[in-house]
Amino acid sequence: MLFDTHCHVNDSAYDADREAVFKRAAAAGVGLMICPATDMETSAQCIALAGEHDGLYAAVGIHPEEAAKAKDGDLDQLRQWLTEEKKVVAVGEVGLDYHWPEPSREIQKKVFIDQVKLAVDLDVPIIIHDREAHGDTLDILRQYGKGIRGVFHCYSGSLEMTDELLRMGFYFGFDGPLTYPNSKRAKRVASHLPLERMLIETDCPYLTPQAHRGQRNEPAYVRYVAEEIANLRGLDVEEVAGITTENARRLFDI
Ligand SMILES: [Zn+2]
Repeated sequence: MLFDTHCHVNDSAYDADREAVFKRAAAAGVGLMICPATDMETSAQCIALAGEHDGLYAAVGIHPEEAAKAKDGDLDQLRQWLTEEKKVVAVGEVGLDYHWPEPSREIQKKVFIDQVKLAVDLDVPIIIHDREAHGDTLDILRQYGKGIRGVFHCYSGSLEMTDELLRMGFYFGFDGPLTYPNSKRAKRVASHLPLERMLIETDCPYLTPQAHRGQRNEPAYVRYVAEEIANLRGLDVEEVAGITTENARRLFDI
């Protein structure tokens, strides 16, 4: 069984055919999925969708690109969802994204720190989005994330950063870009990591694997990521599917 640990199936890209997307996922062997939110509105959407689908779980939180929208009361609402909603399994996706100049780094850091503290306080895992912000992301986790567990989604760090995250107990999420011929660094990292720290994900509708590049991505395609890891490690794809699913169930307590 495959576990797509990061799929935005609430996205409007699926409004016309969402049920068909879930059917294709099931047919491809994807039995478990996590839908991560990007703001308060999508948090509510992910929870509602998870309530309607067996095997679908939700993460709630405010993405760095949405950090300027964060307002008083959001943290209380997130806390309530995390403690009361059975299918909410993590804080996510949260972190830092320095690719664009807005929102400011100060705003992003404040919102990230608040959510790191929340995850530590409630002892729930965290799904981290770190784009071109490795140094500050690590600094915040060192300072505020004592005892935290979680995953770096769409992992893009160096071998040095990987070592530190391994010591901190983190998991590493791999998706479509791992299948691109020019993704040398991701392939190198995915070849060397302990398998028991690896998760697979699609980040759909984005980051479509090479086989369908240019089209909309969907959970069924997480199989291509498992196949790429199997190729890199000289393993059977079912073995990779089994181990990564076990890893995700352990991390998210599913
Ligand atoms: Zn995402």
